[in-house]
Amino acid sequence: MTELDLIIDFHKDAERQGPGSVKDTLRALDLIDLAKGEKLKIADIGCGIGGHTITLAQHTQGQIIAIDLLPDFLEVLDSKTEKLGLQNRISTLAKSMEELAFGEKELDIIWSEGAIYNMGFENGIQNWKQFLKIGGYLAVSEVTWTSMSRPKEIQEFWDQAYPEIDTASNKIRILEQNGYTPVGFFMLTQNTWMESYYRPMEGRLDAFLEKYNHSELAEKVVDEYKYEIDLFKRFKDYYSYGFYVVKRIE
Ligand code: SAH
Repeated sequence: MTELDLIIDFHKDAERQGPGSVKDTLRALDLIDLAKGEKLKIADIGCGIGGHTITLAQHTQGQIIAIDLLPDFLEVLDSKTEKLGLQNRISTLAKSMEELAFGEKELDIIWSEGAIYNMGFENGIQNWKQFLKIGGYLAVSEVTWTSMSRPKEIQEFWDQAYPEIDTASNKIRILEQNGYTPVGFFMLTQNTWMESYYRPMEGRLDAFLEKYNHSELAEKVVDEYKYEIDLFKRFKDYYSYGFYVVKRIE
């Protein structure tokens, strides 16, 4: 088993593969001024096992194409979809977010929670825009500084992990410079991070180590998660996920 196999196995049992909650998904959806009863065409990019995809399906009449690079995650989503009788509303597509092949202006909504960093925020919002109708919405969550300055240790961690991390005002400026107008913005709370993501993660670490007999690789994966959670506990006043809801205007 490779490290990636272990990471996939660890995450596919979780409700979410990143910080987020039903409440936050609905809060962002509420900012979208389109008739939710219409058959809107929605792409959910980097959906993971689709915690939020299910919420989107339950609160719109949209046709959702849920996209992720990893078929293992999509299998979990497919079986949840089937159990809930939502097969006619959610379809899955194993594809890279960098190689999407929708038609020009085909989509009413592009949704992406905690995933755009995989191709970079600016690159993603530029590349995906062609698929969005004029007047269509992009709802995207992205790691965001919550203060103008921060301790060196957390700055260095993010400089290395994701140098595109920035303040909300800078992210919004990038969106505006790329033909989107902001409709709403909010930060996920620290409580959401802990309760939706890190606490459940902490709860699975021991069982995961046992499952893999405390192999060197499993220990390495767990140590990295522990470090990430510890960083959050110490520096949570300095970063969060910003949820940006914007409309394509040109
Ligand atoms: N949106 C989900 C998952 C977030 S984790 C949630 O909030 O729970 C980031 C997701 O992006 C993972 O599921 C990962 O498999 C996916 N991903 C990583 N690189 C990708 C790529 N190039 N194209 C599509 N999906 C990708």
